[in-house]
Amino acid sequence: MAPVVESFRALDAQSNSSATRKTLLFISALLVILFVVASVALVQIASQQNKQAIKQGLFYVEKATQARQKSILATVGDYAFWGEAYRHLHVQVDTDWAYKRQNLGPSLFPDFAYEGVFVVDAGGHTTYAVVEGQQSSVGAQQWLMQDIQPLIEQARKQAEDEEPVVGFLLVGGQPALVALAALTPGSDPQIEAVEGPPSVLLFVDLLGPQKLQMLGQDFGIDELHVGERLATAQVRSSLVLPTLNGDPFLLRWHPAQPGDQLLYFILPLLGLAGVIVALITWLMLRRAITAAREMDASYSSLYASQSALAASEARFRDVAEAASDWIWETDAQLRLTYLSARFQVVTGHAESAWLGRPLDELVSCPGGLQAWLSKRSLHSSSKDSLQGQYLASDGRLRICMFALRHVEGVSGITGYRGIVSDITQEVEARARIEHLSLHDTLTGLPNRNRLQTFLEDKLSALPMTGEPLVMLSVDLDRFKSVNDSFGHETGDLVLGEVSQRLRVILRDGDLVARMGGDEFILIVSGISTQAEVKRLCERLIAGIEQPFEVDNQSIFIGASIGVAMAPADTCLAEELLRYADIALYEAKGAGRSTWCFYARDMKERVTERQQLENDLRQALSNNELRLCLQPRYSVNSQCMVAAEALVRWQHPQRGLLGPDSFIAIAETTGLIVPLSSWVLHTACMEAMTWHEALIVSVNLSPVEFQHGRLLARVKSALNDSGLPPSRLELELTESVMLGDAEGALVLMQDLKELGVRLSMDDFGTGYSSLSYLRKFPFDGLKIDRSFMADLHDSPDSQAIIKAIVGLGRALSLTVTAEGVETEQQLEVLRQCDCDEVQGYFLARPMDPDALRLLLQQ
Ligand code: C2E
Ligand code: CA
Ligand code: CA
Repeated sequence: MAPVVESFRALDAQSNSSATRKTLLFISALLVILFVVASVALVQIASQQNKQAIKQGLFYVEKATQARQKSILATVGDYAFWGEAYRHLHVQVDTDWAYKRQNLGPSLFPDFAYEGVFVVDAGGHTTYAVVEGQQSSVGAQQWLMQDIQPLIEQARKQAEDEEPVVGFLLVGGQPALVALAALTPGSDPQIEAVEGPPSVLLFVDLLGPQKLQMLGQDFGIDELHVGERLATAQVRSSLVLPTLNGDPFLLRWHPAQPGDQLLYFILPLLGLAGVIVALITWLMLRRAITAAREMDASYSSLYASQSALAASEARFRDVAEAASDWIWETDAQLRLTYLSARFQVVTGHAESAWLGRPLDELVSCPGGLQAWLSKRSLHSSSKDSLQGQYLASDGRLRICMFALRHVEGVSGITGYRGIVSDITQEVEARARIEHLSLHDTLTGLPNRNRLQTFLEDKLSALPMTGEPLVMLSVDLDRFKSVNDSFGHETGDLVLGEVSQRLRVILRDGDLVARMGGDEFILIVSGISTQAEVKRLCERLIAGIEQPFEVDNQSIFIGASIGVAMAPADTCLAEELLRYADIALYEAKGAGRSTWCFYARDMKERVTERQQLENDLRQALSNNELRLCLQPRYSVNSQCMVAAEALVRWQHPQRGLLGPDSFIAIAETTGLIVPLSSWVLHTACMEAMTWHEALIVSVNLSPVEFQHGRLLARVKSALNDSGLPPSRLELELTESVMLGDAEGALVLMQDLKELGVRLSMDDFGTGYSSLSYLRKFPFDGLKIDRSFMADLHDSPDSQAIIKAIVGLGRALSLTVTAEGVETEQQLEVLRQCDCDEVQGYFLARPMDPDALRLLLQQ
């Protein structure tokens, strides 16, 4: 396209009209010159013709005068050299013979228009005169008004040769042709010549204006007349004629001027033609200039449109170079004929390597490019873009969007052109977003959304496949402690690792989804018997029980699994999830690291739990809570030093319920706060009934440490009961410190400031490092009762007890052993130097009255 633009750029719009103008001016000048030359030539020709005509006139005038002279010469000769005339006019003048018988004289005027006929004798007398046809007595000299004697003499001299004298004379200013001849007897032998000089016959032909004109007309000469001035004798169309006596005269005529006629006739025509040509030229010039201007204008507009085209080309080029897309053109066989510069940048392939090769060799589209194109030409309405892919030079697969257009020529489709946009990132981003919406960010496992569709698809396919679907609801045991002990980052790592292990155990077609927290749902197909499911559960639990190595620490967790199956239990996704959850709850309730199949009665238990929840709300206002107190004894003195408050619920239908069946519900529902307040109040009030040295200990839930205005409630219980703070002991589990350690520390310090005692409950079950004991302001610790089980015959357990006691001693803590059920246990504890003991062997939890009674004993 560029050369076209260049050529148009080269066009100078201005030079166009000026060139036309110059050409037309040149033509006009040529025409003018032509006209001038033609005119000059015409004038030349005309003057030539005029000259010719003048020459001719002169010739004819000469001819006319000469003819007149010849005529008079012949006539005078005829009469003079005639014997009869000699006899009758010289020898004897016989006027009768001459005039009356008309032999010589009267007929000469009408026949020849000789005005004068004279005979002059030897003495010079006129012997016979006929003037204008009438006999006259006038003398020749008198009539001619001049001396003609010399001419008479000359005529006599020439008589011998019979040669008359002929010439012009001016008579009264008028030319007259005179002819003189001496009368001779001629050839007549009968007449004898007489002595003496002969008489002379004189003919006068007066050339008056009329006669001159007629003479001229005979020879085609107009207006032959006598010229007035001799000075102008040189003037053309004039003839100077000599006279016999010397004075010349001038004959003039109106010359025929054919040249002038030519000029008169042609010149106006030529002028007219010139004017017409000039007009036409002017019009042409005007039109040509207008046309040229229009052409200029159109050229300039063309140029403008061309520069617009050039600008758009430049724009196209810029866009083509700047865009991430590359532009291509092919022939009808899809062989590449053009590739924009971006091609190389985007694909990494060399342009030259691909030009001439088929486009579909580079880019593959679903179904093939050629097939798509032919289908598209059939349905013109079909879309003109499609997705394809190609390998970049670095081997990476790129996804691209094709935009296509036919290139139409006269013979139909001559090729194709289009744009290829790289949409790899877009597609990847879309895939990422889609993945994110369906997957859990932390573990990369499918999330609840993905699970939902997967489950529904599987369930709807169930009637066709006939393959049962197993849903496993997995919950990690002790995972909360991992989070609390090692922080969330470690917890996240463990969750990631758990996901990996679960995935590895399952097959590809199965699904592992994370439901949030430490809950997972597994959907497994291809197994049907309970035995197979059991084996799977065992593998899963075993897999999770493998220690997790994080930051050089081994972390142990377990898993509980609830199993529900479709179609055995239900075919509805919602119900299946709920049943698996119920089974999980069962499994958790059944102890750690176990699984449980859903059973119909579990559903009833769940409803029971819900019922219990509702009942607990009523319990407080209905005064259904009861307080039990379990004494604590000093090992050395065997005296009761404290009593632990343990809550019971006197359920109207279910009877007396222990804390294990409702504390968890109270914690999840938030009812723990008013419940705990009630225990605090009641316990402090009870303690006020005891003797002053006896301490009352109250269990606190970790939930209360996070919210629930604990400090204020403790103050209020102390104030309301009047119990000295030193007589109140609060039992906390280590999880209190693992959550928000700083907050817990502040709260514990506040409580210590109140003056209450703090002891760590269930010591040894969690992960708390012993350093917590140093850092937190505890007054005592209570060894968990699980250590008591094999205490009497296990040296290891005894060693642990001894170590804990040693630690307590070092930190000035009162060490209490819980769950002492036998004398042996008590004996070991004594040997281990344990401070205090609590357990069924010593006293079971009892109602306040029973304790009071015990104290009285
Ligand atoms: P705990 O704090 O460890 O309480 C001691 C539990 O051990 C009591 O069970 C008690 O009956 C039991 N026990 C005492 N001596 C023996 C023994 O020799 N052998 C056996 N096997 N068990 C013995 P209880 O009353 O069922 O309480 C269970 C748990 O409920 C308590 O464990 C405590 O954590 C919680 N709890 C009880 N009352 C309250 C309360 O008012 N508030 C809060 N937050 N938790 C409470
Ligand atoms: Ca306790
Ligand atoms: Ca305990």
